[in-house]
Amino acid sequence: MLTNDQLDKWDRESFFHPSTHLAQHARGETPTRIITGGNGVFIEDRDGNKLLDAFAGLYCVNVGYGRTEIADAIAEQAKELAYYHAYVGHGTEASITLAHMVLERAPAHMSKVYFGLSGSDANETNVKLIWYYNNILGRPEKKKIISRWRGYHGSGLMTGSLTGLELFHKKFDLPLAQVVHTEAPYYFRRPKADMTEAEFTAHCVAELEALIAREGADTIAAFIGEPVLGTGGIVPPPAGYWQAIQAVLDKHDILLVADEVVTGFGRLGTMFGSDHYGMKPDLITIAKGLTSAYAPLSGSIVGEKMWKVLEQGTDENGPIGHGWTYSAHPIGAAAGVANLQLIDKLGLVANAGSVGNYLNDAMRDAVGDHAHVGDVRGEGMLCAIEFVKDRESRTFFDPADKIGAKLAGAMVERGVIARAMPQGDILGFAPPLCLTEAEADQIVATTAEAVKSVLG
Ligand code: PLP
Repeated sequence: MLTNDQLDKWDRESFFHPSTHLAQHARGETPTRIITGGNGVFIEDRDGNKLLDAFAGLYCVNVGYGRTEIADAIAEQAKELAYYHAYVGHGTEASITLAHMVLERAPAHMSKVYFGLSGSDANETNVKLIWYYNNILGRPEKKKIISRWRGYHGSGLMTGSLTGLELFHKKFDLPLAQVVHTEAPYYFRRPKADMTEAEFTAHCVAELEALIAREGADTIAAFIGEPVLGTGGIVPPPAGYWQAIQAVLDKHDILLVADEVVTGFGRLGTMFGSDHYGMKPDLITIAKGLTSAYAPLSGSIVGEKMWKVLEQGTDENGPIGHGWTYSAHPIGAAAGVANLQLIDKLGLVANAGSVGNYLNDAMRDAVGDHAHVGDVRGEGMLCAIEFVKDRESRTFFDPADKIGAKLAGAMVERGVIARAMPQGDILGFAPPLCLTEAEADQIVATTAEAVKSVLG
């Protein structure tokens, strides 16, 4: 077995890590951690540390670590048939079964599933399908996509453009011209302190209407949004937000893409966030929770309205010119089938709702009154704490103080992984959906200690 020192050397010499300060990493200024195993909500590293992973990897290991049911399904599929493509009508029992299972769980008006590998590629697929749809309908000008500031939809060219976080645009020449951004439904950062949630929803709607009027509704094809903003700070929408947005989109014949990469398959205590908020999307993006990240797999669930037009398009133009070598990869599909069965068997959707509420309530009780805690918010098995310099005025800390990163560091030292969200001093929690109340207590107690150690 290689020594830790050898691995550290090779890592810094050879490995280009995503979302990492490349220079500091190469110079050896930042720590590395090599993960070796996991069980339930815990992972272990090569130094023998056991950590409670309160972010489920990147909010994806929804069933928890070490599930042999999924590992066995992957091994059996690999032995029987590791790969065959899905082009021109080819399939496997696993991919066909998974498509059926996804549609059984999705809102009733959804029609078909296209499988990809990542949330980013699924959203790239969505944009292509939206453009194709409007070309088939003879509306070549109706192509722009509206996204929200603080939305996260991936880091490709188009999806990085849809993402509304500065870090993902800066120096990459993004966003591309076909993307326009509107206000985030971020009640804590409302423009006026005395606004009610309903007034803030009306403000978001007015901003959207103004954007559509400026650009021209006949140039706007779709609106993309996560039911709950995730990477942008774990922000549930204000009351009535999705109904009001949906009405605007319907009025202007603008498609809705629900990006459910985080919320799909149970995280909010419902199978989909669209059910949770009464959204009626034309496309739903799925990834992460589809396989609990035991294998890479994503999907675009296409609604009936679009599907009919896609069929018409191929009658007029021949086969759809879209596909990846690894679309509907059998190993990912086998993992997906076993994962969805396990979610049902263990009752994880209901558990996410009940233990998620418990976690949010306990977190609010433990740190909600702290002088530097501006907001404790969440929905289902998602929770966030936003830290502020001053509670009354909601002032930000100086970013150079790196309060979020220091808090996440103080938590890891105490055995719990939480995520310092990329924009603002926000600590995010998205544990596996199998979390118990006792494990939630451990997360909350550790958070309270970490807050005390960093902020007094
Ligand atoms: N959409 C949402 C809502 C996400 O949270 C993410 C990733 O975190 C993505 C899309 C992109 O997924 P991936 O990283 O698999 O490309």
